[in-house]
Amino acid sequence: MYTLNENYLKLPGSYLFSGIAKKVAAYQKAHPDADIIRLGIGDVTQPLCKAVIDELHKAVDEMASADTFKGYAPDLGYEFLRHAMAENDYRNNGCDIADDEIFISDGAKSDSANIQEIFGQDVKLAVCDPVYPVYVDSNVMAGRCGDYDEKTGMWSNVIYMPCTAENGFAPELPTETPDLIYLCFPNNPTGEVITRDELQKWVDYANKVGAIIIYDAAYEAYITDPSIPHSIYECKGARTCAIELRSFSKNAGFTGLRLGATIIPHDIVVAKTAIGKENVELHSLWARRHGTKYNGAPYIVQRAGLACYSEEGKAQIKEQVATYMKNAKYIKNGLKEAGYTVYGGENSPYVWLKTPDNMTSWEFFDMLLEKANVVGTPGSGFGPSGEHYFRLTAFGSYENSVRAIERIKNM
Ligand code: PLP
Repeated sequence: MYTLNENYLKLPGSYLFSGIAKKVAAYQKAHPDADIIRLGIGDVTQPLCKAVIDELHKAVDEMASADTFKGYAPDLGYEFLRHAMAENDYRNNGCDIADDEIFISDGAKSDSANIQEIFGQDVKLAVCDPVYPVYVDSNVMAGRCGDYDEKTGMWSNVIYMPCTAENGFAPELPTETPDLIYLCFPNNPTGEVITRDELQKWVDYANKVGAIIIYDAAYEAYITDPSIPHSIYECKGARTCAIELRSFSKNAGFTGLRLGATIIPHDIVVAKTAIGKENVELHSLWARRHGTKYNGAPYIVQRAGLACYSEEGKAQIKEQVATYMKNAKYIKNGLKEAGYTVYGGENSPYVWLKTPDNMTSWEFFDMLLEKANVVGTPGSGFGPSGEHYFRLTAFGSYENSVRAIERIKNM
C-alpha cells in the first residue's frame, strides 16, 4: 500500500481564497438578489491592452504555417523576451543583469512555490507576517516547517517577522539567523513598500549571514515614489544573495495568459557543498530544474510578453496601472472619510485597513458581506499579525470601487 506525503495533511483548512469563495457562495445562495461587489481576490479586471492582443494575433497566425510554426520553447525562455526584460526592467534602470540570468516561466506563483526545491531540506525560512501564503505552504509541503499551532497560527520551524502599524509594516532583521528570507514589495497584503536604504540593509544582512533573499517584485509596476526600488538589484551586493521574481499578471493583466520570470545571478555561488562539490552556482540548479520539470511558457504568450516592452505596449500598460491606482486612491480616501485607519494603496493596488472596534478580521468580513454586500480579504488569513486588519483590492472597476465605498460609508 502506498503512503502519502503527509506534509500536505499538516496544512490547516483550505487555501484562503477557496475559503472565502465558499462563504460568498453560501451567502449568495441564501440571498439570490444580493448584488455582491468583489474586492477580495487580487485578480485584474481590465482586458489585455491592444499592443498585446495584436502581437498575440500575429503569433497565433505564425503557428498556422509550417515555416513559422514553433514547437517546444527553449528551456529557459525565448531569447527575445529575456533580452527585452534584461534591457527594460534591469539594465536601463542601472541593474546589472544579463539575459541568461532570466528564466521565463508561467508566473510568480509557481516560481515562488517551486524555488524552495533547490535548497536543502534543513534550510530555515523567515517570512513577513502577514505574508502571501504560497511561500510558507510550499515549504510545508516540502516538510520544512515543523508543526502547526492552531492557537498561534504559526509553524514551529518558521521565523516570523511581524509587519504591523507599530513598525510601519517593515520587517525587522530577525534575531535568529535564517537561510532563506522571503520579501515581497510592494507588499501583498499590506500594500506597503520598502525604501532603497531599508532594502540595502537586508541585502547587507543576507550577505553577512550567508542567507538568500527571495524577492517577489510582482507589484513593482505600481511604484510611483522614486525612493522605492523596483528591483532588489538596485541595491549593492544583491547579485551575491538575491533571487528576484517577476510577473506579467499585475502590470499587464496576464493572470489568465500566464507569464513570469525568475532572476538568478551567476554570482550566487556555494563555495563547497555537503557532498564536496565546489563553486556551485544556484543558477545551474534552477536551470537543471527547469530543464527537467518544465517545458516552457507558450511561444504565443512569450510574444505577448515581448509586446509589453514596445513603445505602445509600455504606454498602454501604464494607463491600465493608472486606472487601478485611481481606484486605490478612491478606496483609500473614501475609507479615511468613513473614519477608518488605512494603509497601503499608494504604491500598490492593495488597501489595508484596521478593523473598527477591535473586531477580528473574519468578524469584519462577515459584517461587510452582510451589511454592504462587499467582499474583501480577512488579514488574519495572511498570518497572525494580519489579525484585526482587512485587505481591499483596487483591481475592480472604478464604478464598483465607488459603489463599494458608498455602501461602506452607509453601513
Ligand atoms: N506573488 C504575489 C505576492 C502575489 O500576490 C501573486 C498573486 O496574487 C503572485 C505572486 C502570483 O503571480 P502570478 O500570477 O504571476 O502567478
